[in-house]
Parts: sequence; C-alpha cells; structure tokens
Amino acid sequence: MIVKRLKKPVALRIYDALNARMTLTAAQQRERQSYQRGYEGEVQLGNHFEKMPFDCLVLQDLQLKESGVQVQIDVLLLTGNTIHLYEVKNYSGSYDFQDDALHTQADFVVDPLAQTRKSKPLIYNLVRKWGYRFQVEECAIFINPNFYIYQLPRDKPFVFHHQLPHHFGQTGQGVWIDESHKRLAQKLLNCHLHDYRPHELPRYEYAQLKKGIYCSQCYSFAHTNTRQTRICTCRYKETIREAIQRTAEEFRLLFPERKMTTSVIYDWCGREYYKQRIQEVMQEHFTVYGKWGGTYYT
Ligand SMILES: [Zn+2]
Repeated sequence: MIVKRLKKPVALRIYDALNARMTLTAAQQRERQSYQRGYEGEVQLGNHFEKMPFDCLVLQDLQLKESGVQVQIDVLLLTGNTIHLYEVKNYSGSYDFQDDALHTQADFVVDPLAQTRKSKPLIYNLVRKWGYRFQVEECAIFINPNFYIYQLPRDKPFVFHHQLPHHFGQTGQGVWIDESHKRLAQKLLNCHLHDYRPHELPRYEYAQLKKGIYCSQCYSFAHTNTRQTRICTCRYKETIREAIQRTAEEFRLLFPERKMTTSVIYDWCGREYYKQRIQEVMQEHFTVYGKWGGTYYT
C-alpha cells in the first residue's frame, strides 16, 4: 500500500515555471533536465508499487530533519522487520566500476548511494528513539533499462531494471505488516517537511519574469478566451477560474515570502482579467487576511 505518493518535486516545479517565464542559462537547463529525468525515473518505479506482490507500506519522496541533519529519501518501504531505503537513479549508457566507485564514460565519479548514506543512520536512530526495532537496508535502483555497469562486484546493493521483479520477489518472502508498521509509517509521515525548498535554485526577481498565464500542458502563453474558458493553441481547455487559481499557486511557489493581494495576482496573471474576477477566485481558494485596503491571501 502506498502511504505517501510521489508528487512533482518543488525544484522541478520551480524550474518549469522559470523556464516558461525567463531564459534559463545552458547550465540551468541541464539542471532542469536532470530533475526531470530523476522525476521520470521515480514515476516509473512508482508504477511497480501499485501492484506489489506482498504486504508493505511505501512512502515516496520523504524529506526529514533530525538533530540538524536533513535528508531526502526517494522511497522508504516498510515490511517484516526491515525498512528498505531506495535511491532511484535514471542513469543511461554504460559506466565502469573502478576503485570502489562508479565512473561515467567521461570519467566523472558518481555515488548512487550518496543520499542513503546520510539517511540510513538517521532513520536507524529515529525509529529506535520511537521504540521500534527495525533493521535498515539501503539499495540503489537503476530504473533505466538502457544502463550497464562494467566490472560490478556482486556484493553491491544495486538493482537493475530487469532485476526488479526478482528483487521484490526476494524482499517479499515471509514478510508481514501489522499495526506497528502502520503507526511507524504515520509517525514518519508526520515528520515529513511539507514546505521544504532546495537551496540550489536559480536566482530570479519578480521584475525579470514574464507575466501572464501559461498553459499547464505545453507552457505556451498564446490562447483565446470564451466567457468562462481559456483555450490554448495546443487546444487544451481550462476554466479561467482554474487558470487564475493555478497561476496564483505558482506565484506562491516562486515567491513564498511575498503577500498575495488581488493587485499582485492581477499583475502576475498579465492584467488580462478583471480584478473582480481575480478577487472572487482568491476568496474562494485561499484564506483571507485583513480588511479593506490591506487584504491579502495565503
Ligand atoms: Zn497548451
């Protein structure tokens, strides 16, 4: 059972919004593509969890902080007496295993277990603190079928795409879940940092971003309106109210520290729709603070 489902990561949502509204540098484009590939890999692996052949609880994309250490866990799978931490890698091509490290063809060294190396002791200590006894195992899953490692020793906790059915078959032998697993999953879920923002994001200012509403499917700003509906050049249709709400949410994502007022969202949406309409959407979907001239929304 999936207790916490994967959502599009904050960093990728920010990169996609910026890509529509400003010109990213080549390095920023590469970073965005890297987030996109990673997300696609996690979505692919997520499909396997929909039909697991054994009882388990799955938490995808957890952000935890304990004793000042913050970790990101792609997948935490809870079953039997073990917590499995999976790191998902969407690498493609062939790599070499040399001197206990993974080398790309261009001879860069990558560490597919970098995150679990941090998260494993944190999870181990956290569950003990809460009075549970689980062993913690780490594993990197290479989700892309077009990936190969030369000279890989057999003892590495690596699982390739074609090995997934076998791996989960082994993992699921003689396991069970009971109330203690459910309580622990809930405790972990309660610790998840919802408002997490990655540190390494591109710098951007409100003034430099293109204003207006873009299509949620193709990111184009070009559209026509009927009385209630926006129709993109790609033919995607959305009610104008939905489009305004979505674009206000995007403003909150990009500028979490700024107050959302009707005037601010009116400007952000490209001054295309009447303030009256913006205000109605804001009142319906956000919490209203203040009165008269000073009203803002969260
Ligand atoms: Zn479109």
